[in-house]
Amino acid sequence: MSLIAPDRRTILRVAGAAALSLASRGALAAVVKRPKPLVMLDPGHGGADPGCISVTGTYEKDITLATARALAHDLEAGGHFRVKLTRNDDEYVPLGERVARARGAGADLMLSIHADALPDEHLRGASVFTLSEQASDRAAAALAARENRADFVAGVDLSRHAPEVSNILFDLARRETNNESIRLARDLVAELGRRVRLLNHSHRSAGFAVLKAPDIPSALVEIGCLSNREEEALLQSLPYQRKLTTGLMQSVSDFFDLPA
Ligand code: ZN
Repeated sequence: MSLIAPDRRTILRVAGAAALSLASRGALAAVVKRPKPLVMLDPGHGGADPGCISVTGTYEKDITLATARALAHDLEAGGHFRVKLTRNDDEYVPLGERVARARGAGADLMLSIHADALPDEHLRGASVFTLSEQASDRAAAALAARENRADFVAGVDLSRHAPEVSNILFDLARRETNNESIRLARDLVAELGRRVRLLNHSHRSAGFAVLKAPDIPSALVEIGCLSNREEEALLQSLPYQRKLTTGLMQSVSDFFDLPA
């Protein structure tokens, strides 16, 4: 007998839960009355971790919180969503804790909000990230490393949540979540692209720790580049922020097939 093989009852229990979880996103959702979807907004950085800092001294952590709060307000005002924030203050929250808060709240979607800083100050534009095991290119990997710097542990210990889940079931659920995340990201690129400038490679994938919830479709949005003077000013202007939040809100609504 293998020491690592889970017993049969455990497998059945997990398989049942996995099947229910997958089904509940599809066919069941149509017939079972569910509460309003819970959107978890995650303003990047906070507290002792300022994120990137522009040459004029603008902190990423302040831009991300302001955007998340504005988006939360709009989503709630629309009446179709419940919204929570991983932080609603200038608070340091470790990346793993952000995922734990999303999962603990039963979030149906997680949107992590960041602002970029690129070595080339002339580059500007928004971009969207989804999770990849192998970061898709070196730039994405470098960015992932930067965003994960705040934590000593790069990933989330998912085995802590469900140690008995077999690799096959886990991969199945994660693949499903991944597909949903990619659908979300493509729509984010489309909706943001209608309203603001995007970077050339506007949808990339990287190993962001905050995207590692295996059961919550997630994307990370870099709303613009603080390294670019023009965009730094735009990110702090109300009309531009309005464009951003309108695009983000439209994508969230599209994802759940609900009106904005
Ligand atoms: Zn960031």
